Amino acid sequence: MTLIPVERTTASRIGQVDFNNLDFGLHMSDHILVAEYSNGQWGAARIKPYGTMEFYPAMMALHYGQSVFEGMKAFRMENGDISVFRAATHLERFNRSLERMCMPTVPASLFLDGLFELIRTDQDWVSGNPGCSLYLRPFCFASEARLKIKVAEKYHFIILTSPAGPYYTKPYRLKVETEYTRTVEGGTGFAKCAGNYGSSYYPMQLAFQEGYDQVLWTDGKEHKYIDEVGMMNVMFMIDGVLTTPKLNTAILSGVTRDSVLTLAKDMGVRTEERRISVEEIETNLKQGRISEAFGTGTAAVVAPITTINISGTDHQIPEPTPSSFQSKVKNLLSDMRTGRAADIHGWNHIIQI
Ligand SMILES: *Cc1c(COP(=O)(O)O)cnc(C)c1O
Repeated sequence: MTLIPVERTTASRIGQVDFNNLDFGLHMSDHILVAEYSNGQWGAARIKPYGTMEFYPAMMALHYGQSVFEGMKAFRMENGDISVFRAATHLERFNRSLERMCMPTVPASLFLDGLFELIRTDQDWVSGNPGCSLYLRPFCFASEARLKIKVAEKYHFIILTSPAGPYYTKPYRLKVETEYTRTVEGGTGFAKCAGNYGSSYYPMQLAFQEGYDQVLWTDGKEHKYIDEVGMMNVMFMIDGVLTTPKLNTAILSGVTRDSVLTLAKDMGVRTEERRISVEEIETNLKQGRISEAFGTGTAAVVAPITTINISGTDHQIPEPTPSSFQSKVKNLLSDMRTGRAADIHGWNHIIQI
């Protein structure tokens, strides 16, 4: 364990935050972790107060898009401990994303020790209110100032944290997207890079204008197979089988997706990961064989889907009830994270305070 120097703020902003009424991503906690990469290696990390930072306008991340992030959460447990959910899995994905973008990977000692020390520093920001958590945002970007088109040689690795409340989404009305693509096999869809978001906004905005909440992304080659929903993985309960698209290079490997699949098996629910065509979903919807559909992601955990528009026709899916799979799995996951249910998969990292 490396010792990380901590420069503490003299003006905590925690008093300005209403922990009973949190708007996602609006308030940043008091401190950040920063490390810089140059001359082929990562420098020492430090923790300092959150605030403005200076960069050159020629910073390469802004021009050529080398920018990658993670989204994860820390929870206040029933006994007062703080747990971080599946930290090592997030680190593995972060490094896969970095490799795809020709960026330097971040060693576990920097990422994990840095993250845990940062959470210790801002431990008062981890609320024990029901459904609350501390959202963790590790990210890396090319900070070298140069306009030449090349792989950057200087990077910043930063971790921000932000208190999050229960994230209730009203049931989604989806439009199947068959014109635009988020990404395509061979592209960057499996990497959590900033560009995937930038390119998704326009088709999402068109869907909003047509009265939908999100797009159901289809494969970029034929627009026949389902990839993801908005910025989440998607799951359907078809004839009692929890069915989700099989991972490929166009699909982000969600940690929530993996957790839900694992818990489904524990709960005795059959699961299938395979290609799912829009045509199959349409037929199954017409025959009433889809009892649930939902998105999965760290921010919302599960987000119910009740309408899917396929070539101009809205198809309905029942709203979840407390006995729906998605409600049960969401509660189980929450119980495991807060210590009300046994952490049988070893997903919690307990922070030593
Ligand atoms: C982050 C993300 C997800 C969800 O991943 P989790 O690890 O479950 O939070 C799904 N799809 C996309 C495109 C994402 O960026």
